[in-house]
Amino acid sequence: MKLQLADIRKIYPNGAVGVENIDFGVSDGQMTVLLGPSGCGKSTLLRLISGLETPTDGRIFIDGRDITSWEPKRRDVAMVFQNYALYPHMTVLQNLEFGLKSRKIPQPERMESVNWAADLLGLREYLGRKPRELSGGQRQRVALGRAIVRKPKLYLFDEPLSNLDSELRMKMRGEILSLHRRVNGTSIYVTHDQVEAMSLADTIFIMKSGKIISSGAPNELYNNPPDLFTAGFLGFPAMNLIEGQIEEGRFVSGLGLDVAVRGMTADDSKSVVMGIRPEDMTIGDSGGVSAEIKSLENLGRSILLYVRMTGGENLKIVAKNSYHIGELISVRFHEERMVFFDPGSKKRIERVS
Ligand code: ADP
Repeated sequence: MKLQLADIRKIYPNGAVGVENIDFGVSDGQMTVLLGPSGCGKSTLLRLISGLETPTDGRIFIDGRDITSWEPKRRDVAMVFQNYALYPHMTVLQNLEFGLKSRKIPQPERMESVNWAADLLGLREYLGRKPRELSGGQRQRVALGRAIVRKPKLYLFDEPLSNLDSELRMKMRGEILSLHRRVNGTSIYVTHDQVEAMSLADTIFIMKSGKIISSGAPNELYNNPPDLFTAGFLGFPAMNLIEGQIEEGRFVSGLGLDVAVRGMTADDSKSVVMGIRPEDMTIGDSGGVSAEIKSLENLGRSILLYVRMTGGENLKIVAKNSYHIGELISVRFHEERMVFFDPGSKKRIERVS
């Protein structure tokens, strides 16, 4: 199964831009995550793929066939939403077989598929219950079951877990991933939750204002963000971004932060934005850049420190030990973990090794 979107644009009748300039593809067996802030066009893109919306421009292909004008039913795509919309008057079994029935699949085959899905999802003993007699997690499982019984070519998940509490979310996240692998499905998963994206995705596509900004494997995007938006968006606490210049093998900020860097061939006094993650600095007594702790937040296993460097830069640092407000510290930057961006193009500048 191969999905391809070519130069897709969706303008809504009221003039709102849903998405534009979308060239996007997913390959067989992959979990692809669309990640971006609310209103960036994730659901629009998913609805275009499912056929619930038609694009204003551009074409959509499945396995090389142009399906742009196909009805949702013909596309062999299953969608799982956050409000799982089970039929309340039907039992779990009836909910599971509903889609198969409406496709006129014969009864023995229907039961085979329903039992297969119920076994995969641990729903066997609940087949006779109505949705109101189930927990939130069990209901979400029935919704997943309704998608998988049809053994579709493609699964589309539209923030399926956002109504659940955090513990259940984490559990269902694991279940979705294991289900995706066991049914060997090809899936596209929409979320604004970066933790969900990082833990589920083979490939993440980051969206902003209707466009795809960047894409890559989660670790690749996290460690080596290709652009400033990705750098600032992915990761909590967010990456520190500091404006400055490269001068003779050093990064020097406007406020006087001054650290040695290797592999930056930028011309003298070329402006850059330096990015460093809060976990990529260590705190000691001396030998680094002096700073004062302004405030702190307990993150559970670690502490988030808000520090002011002597020059005046404000940075976030994740630390293990306990500190107190007002304490003077010395901050070492893990030089090899710094990333640099061109403030004009907003793209990452490659460092030479
Ligand atoms: P996301 O899923 O990332 O939150 P959406 O795809 O829902 O974003 O929305 C993208 C943009 O399109 C937003 O500006 C939104 O207001 C607009 N939009 C979405 N659906 C409609 C609609 N049915 N009619 C008009 N504008 C819409």
